[in-house]
Amino acid sequence: MCCGGRKRKKHDYDPDLPVLRADVWPARHIPIFNGSMLLGPDRITYAITFFLLGLPAIFFIAFTCADIFRYVHWSAGVIILLLGLTLFFANIYCLVKVGTMDPGILPKNVECYREFFAESQTLATEETAAPIEGRFQTANRITELPQAKIVEVNGENLEMKYCRTCKIFRPPRASHCSRCDCCVDRFDHHCPWTGTCIGRRNHRYFYFFVTLTFLLCVYTTASCLLQIGMLISICMKPAVDGSTAPYHDLDFGQAIFTSISLSPVSFIMLLYGGVMGLSVCGLSFYHCYLIGINQTTYEQINNRYKRRRNPYEKSAWNNFKEVLFGPIEPSLIHLDQKIIFSEMVEEERIRKEHDHDEIIQIDEDSDELT
Ligand SMILES: [Zn+2]
Ligand SMILES: [Zn+2]
Repeated sequence: MCCGGRKRKKHDYDPDLPVLRADVWPARHIPIFNGSMLLGPDRITYAITFFLLGLPAIFFIAFTCADIFRYVHWSAGVIILLLGLTLFFANIYCLVKVGTMDPGILPKNVECYREFFAESQTLATEETAAPIEGRFQTANRITELPQAKIVEVNGENLEMKYCRTCKIFRPPRASHCSRCDCCVDRFDHHCPWTGTCIGRRNHRYFYFFVTLTFLLCVYTTASCLLQIGMLISICMKPAVDGSTAPYHDLDFGQAIFTSISLSPVSFIMLLYGGVMGLSVCGLSFYHCYLIGINQTTYEQINNRYKRRRNPYEKSAWNNFKEVLFGPIEPSLIHLDQKIIFSEMVEEERIRKEHDHDEIIQIDEDSDELT
């Protein structure tokens, strides 16, 4: 028997610590800070979004604000800097919220957790040839289950479809996201730029994020235009004794060229802000419209309410109040599930250790025979 001194693998678990583990979480999210935050599956594009916002912000402060401070007036530079920073940090706050909170995940049937765990253990130990009995039994049971339940919402009969992946009847506005591998309530869409799904709990932050990004682009473009415009006017002014202006008496064409060569970063920022602003402008107005009619992108694209009344729709004002400022429903990801994970992990670890010891015992016996 080989017991003591055996090196523990990286994936051994502490049974006394019922913590949500990334490698047994059955969706593709990664829990961080003890499961209080969830990162979606598109973590690289989520990081790129921070980069696409953060880098221009540094350039804006270092070049555009500094040039306004130098060439226009120091007070104008300070005001533009403070307003820009306020918009930027509000935008980053919304991006962090939308990408790290539970978007409205509907917990899977506990059977899925057991299957997932059995599957991951099978892959980890390369026993792929062995069928997992429980999985096939469950699959057979699914075919006997009804496909949908009917639920009445504000006088309309809506379907609660059965999700074969999560093995639950999901609420009428929920949908399964194949990228996240879970059902999300009031599913809007999966957004790779925020790394996760947009659903019931984070839709408002997504809307604020998109709108603030649009405002930030407008603000950046306007500030760069102001700065370059002021430089052009300075370059066109006649020479005056004691003037500290780098150029003067230039015609309009020369003044534009000179201003851009004096502030090339601001010119690039102007173009960047313009292109980014145009690309998010439509998205911001589209979501404003969707919130006004209380529909999700998924429902609108699929013409969900083409032949029937939308039972969730109220007046535009009440729709905005509900979606943007109403209470956020509590997350359905409960600590109970974390405990189930830990118990399952520990049970499986003990079983594996037992099996491993038996295999070693057999090997030792066969060595003795040969
Ligand atoms: Zn599902
Ligand atoms: Zn998703």
